[in-house]
Amino acid sequence: MEYINEGIALGVDLLILGLCFKEYVNYKKSLASLKNAPQLHLESNLRSVVEKQKDKRIPYAVIRGTVMPIGAPLKSVMSPSVTGVLQVIKLSEHRVARGFAGFWSDQRKLIHVSSNEVPFVITSGKESVEILDGLSASVIDLDLVYDSYEPASLTFFDHIFGFFSGVRQKGFQTTEEILRDGSFITAIGEIELDGNTLRMQSSSVGPMFLTTATKGTLIKKFEEAKSSTLIKMFFCGTISVILISIIARKIYLKKKQERSERKLKESLEKARRERRSRARPRNLNDEQLCVVCVANPKEVIVLPCGHVCLCEDCSEKIQLNCPVCRARIETKAAAFIS
Ligand SMILES: [Zn+2]
Ligand SMILES: [Zn+2]
Repeated sequence: MEYINEGIALGVDLLILGLCFKEYVNYKKSLASLKNAPQLHLESNLRSVVEKQKDKRIPYAVIRGTVMPIGAPLKSVMSPSVTGVLQVIKLSEHRVARGFAGFWSDQRKLIHVSSNEVPFVITSGKESVEILDGLSASVIDLDLVYDSYEPASLTFFDHIFGFFSGVRQKGFQTTEEILRDGSFITAIGEIELDGNTLRMQSSSVGPMFLTTATKGTLIKKFEEAKSSTLIKMFFCGTISVILISIIARKIYLKKKQERSERKLKESLEKARRERRSRARPRNLNDEQLCVVCVANPKEVIVLPCGHVCLCEDCSEKIQLNCPVCRARIETKAAAFIS
């Protein structure tokens, strides 16, 4: 196949286009639900607002307030003076690896993640909303409280081994991120009044957020991401169209060539037939005529039965059985009757 390269490129391009489209739909959906989510104020009697709703629940809403642990806060492992409610510690390995075309490139591989949370509320004035399963939020703005990088001490043999295996260790990085108590954040999710407690949890309408950004900033960010995905889609789409037209052109040219080759073959065949019919002897008796068309002389012997019974034109059409004795035809040969 002469268009296999274009075909592979088209496949990859369509895959990227599909992923971009999925991303675009996600952004669009999140953006729509974010725009529709009401901004509720904890101070202005949120409890009675939620109580009036069906099932005492608002599917997707925005609240702002200060993070407060319900019991004792979490203590940072690496910086003990810092306390918070959500904590993520990551250990990653930095290495250089020989990749595409033999170039060495930096890579970062996450080796271990540990996360912790304690129950906490978002509070403002007298009212507070408990956040359930905060770590499951799609976007969480955590503070980086610890970041340390330790270069690996490599021996001579490690270098030699790295050269042959294609992976050389560079060092380890440990980071700790915390959502500090006392920080002022925006929380977006489903709000529910359960007994006497107001709760926020992940929503089926849109992604859950625990972020320092305001609703307006988030909408702006999502709109920017949406338009940049649209640009990517347009770019991929253009490449697809170009590739499809290249493939279509190649197919068209191939078909055109096949058609002209067939025409040439047909005209040569026609000329050959005419030449032969001019060269045939006239005034033959019935015995000497082809048994099929009864017009041309007998010119072909059918084997293995050995009947000389066909002209050349008819022998092209008859492939299976001898027209005289019905024996199976294995081969044919020109017969010269002198
Ligand atoms: Zn014939
Ligand atoms: Zn026969």
